[in-house]
Amino acid sequence: MSEEIEKVKCLIIGSGPAGYTAAIYASRANMHPVMYQGLQPGGQLTTTNEVENFPGYPQGITGPEMMIELQQQAERFGTDVRGGWITKVDFTGPVHKVWVDGEKEIHADSVIIATGASAKYLGIESEQKYLKNGGGVSACAVCDGFFYRGQEVVIVGAGDSACEEASYLSNICTKVTMLVRREQFRASDIMEKRVKGIENITIMYNTEIDEVMGDGQVVQQVRTKNNKTGETTEIPCTGVFIAIGHKPNTDVFKDWLDLDETGYIINKPGTSKTNIEGVFVSGDAADHVYRQAVTAAGTGCMAALDAERYLAAKGIH
Ligand code: NDP
Repeated sequence: MSEEIEKVKCLIIGSGPAGYTAAIYASRANMHPVMYQGLQPGGQLTTTNEVENFPGYPQGITGPEMMIELQQQAERFGTDVRGGWITKVDFTGPVHKVWVDGEKEIHADSVIIATGASAKYLGIESEQKYLKNGGGVSACAVCDGFFYRGQEVVIVGAGDSACEEASYLSNICTKVTMLVRREQFRASDIMEKRVKGIENITIMYNTEIDEVMGDGQVVQQVRTKNNKTGETTEIPCTGVFIAIGHKPNTDVFKDWLDLDETGYIINKPGTSKTNIEGVFVSGDAADHVYRQAVTAAGTGCMAALDAERYLAAKGIH
């Protein structure tokens, strides 16, 4: 099926806090943005229960509710929000070509990428069950750690993220058990030393989660297995934090944009500009350090302002 090529001034790809904030700014600036939401409308926040650290919500708000409100705010100013997945791009010319669902072709004067990143999970059934029902599995200690204050938790991973999150959790929780699948950390020396020096962090090496156990609603313990000896252990805990890395959703751009070794888009420092004129990036697709809803929203704003100035400089009204 072939359709007519659609021309747009500003195309926003992705629908998390970065994409919606870009949309609010772009629509208020009369850029008539068109947004494609991607496979997970609302992004990573739709897998979070309560968001308590986004300014302006003194009583907190659930992730899905916040994303609905952001969408309504973007639509109120005229953003055209559509379902669809970008399958191919061609950034050779001044007009950026983008294909949606392998069919529809769009020519955009400016493109704002807000495709985010996805947390990696272990992939075992019991982990996914308690993740989906919000019963105690999380991939973000800063987002969800507070719900486990005064309780015992487990964290999986041994990179810088796991160390940072373990250290963060140790201030909130009574006990943090860190499960390291090899005999050594992957994290930088300084981070490794820091967690080793914290009294209420216990480190178990060569250890992986065999099953997340609970009453069907909430987590009560994990069964771990030592991958050298085969020995299993049950560790009581109410929260299981998975910190084994993130994957930025940038595969479709890899032939055009400068990416770092893990696939994050490299932006020009202090801006949302990429190596291609008129293509801007916001949110977690370019951020492996902060990864917060509020930082994503901030860079979404930057991308819309950069795109607006780009269009004005090119005389595109
Ligand atoms: P990393 O890829 O560095 O580390 C992932 C960790 O998870 C490793 O210990 C890995 O084990 C473990 N792991 C992976 N898969 C599994 C699994 N299936 N089961 C159990 N364990 C598993 O990811 P990070 O998110 O920690 O860091 C990503 C990048 O961001 C790094 O470059 C890091 O330096 C950077 N970063 C920097 C920070 C800072 O500067 N403040 C903070 C956070 C991140 P193994 O070692 O065996 O592969």
